[in-house]
Amino acid sequence: MIDQFGRLIDYARISVTNSCNLRCVYCMAEKNELTSEKLHLSVEHIIQICTAFASLDIRKIKITGGEPLMRKDIADIVRSVKNIDGIKKVTLTTNGILLPQVLEDLSSRELDGINISLDSLDANSYKAITRRGSVNDSLSGLNFALNRGFSNIKINCVVIEGLNDQEIENIAALAFDKNIAVRFIEIMPMGFAKQHKLVPQDQIVMRLEKHFGQLVPCSGNFGNGPAVYYKLPDFCGKIGFISAVSHKFCTSCNRVRLTAAGHLKTCLHFRNGVDLRTLLENKVSQAELICHIENAILQKPVGHAFCSSFSEYEEEFADMSHIGG
Ligand code: SF4
Repeated sequence: MIDQFGRLIDYARISVTNSCNLRCVYCMAEKNELTSEKLHLSVEHIIQICTAFASLDIRKIKITGGEPLMRKDIADIVRSVKNIDGIKKVTLTTNGILLPQVLEDLSSRELDGINISLDSLDANSYKAITRRGSVNDSLSGLNFALNRGFSNIKINCVVIEGLNDQEIENIAALAFDKNIAVRFIEIMPMGFAKQHKLVPQDQIVMRLEKHFGQLVPCSGNFGNGPAVYYKLPDFCGKIGFISAVSHKFCTSCNRVRLTAAGHLKTCLHFRNGVDLRTLLENKVSQAELICHIENAILQKPVGHAFCSSFSEYEEEFADMSHIGG
């Protein structure tokens, strides 16, 4: 559907849980009180909401979390959403650790793409950032997905000054001999991320070009979201950037988010949206559900206010694990 600013909204990121097997320093508290499973949306409710999305031409779905693979019924969720009439693409964002187990049940026909969050290749830095888990498990997940023939695999690397910025070249090199896209993400000043310093895209570009040669823009569309892609000399894969702070992309925003608690967020930075869970628990009709979603999207904010102290909208204070990134 088209929002009040003429933007085509065709993509929804749905968080199916805010549970996670990691505790990334910019995402959630070390002692994060895990929300009990029963507070998460049921598969039936997720299907109802995604069916409503499809009727509004929102046809691309990203399954996120917390860590979505923590849900025992994740394969069922992916398959059910993929089978909804009108849904074109279902992709997943994961830290990769549980991928080998889950991909036993899922085929590349059902899952159109996998984004693996990997902020470090160094065991100590990985531990310092995630506070749990091992980088080798995440890399095993990557290799398992590649060996199982999943295409459209991307690495999400949030670059944080003083934590992993020394590894930019090494992480980019994952795309040298693998046909994957390594995307460098600017940290956004929300929740725990406010305690960390971003490394601007231009700095990363300078480092990569000094080390590997010129970054050449890629033409074509390689994903659902705002990433811009480049090729480096002799690289099999691509390098991408998602730079919401230094290269604001709100004028072409195409997405909404559904939190694990069932709140439809129309902009990452603000609380604007509608509580779909209560509507579903009150057994509203599908037509009413569609109407509530449409009205919320028609009031979607113009863009974030990360770089300004004033905004007419109520700022989001929940941490990223509750929003789904
Ligand atoms: S900050 Fe809001 S408007 Fe901007 S790209 Fe993100 S979701 Fe879209």
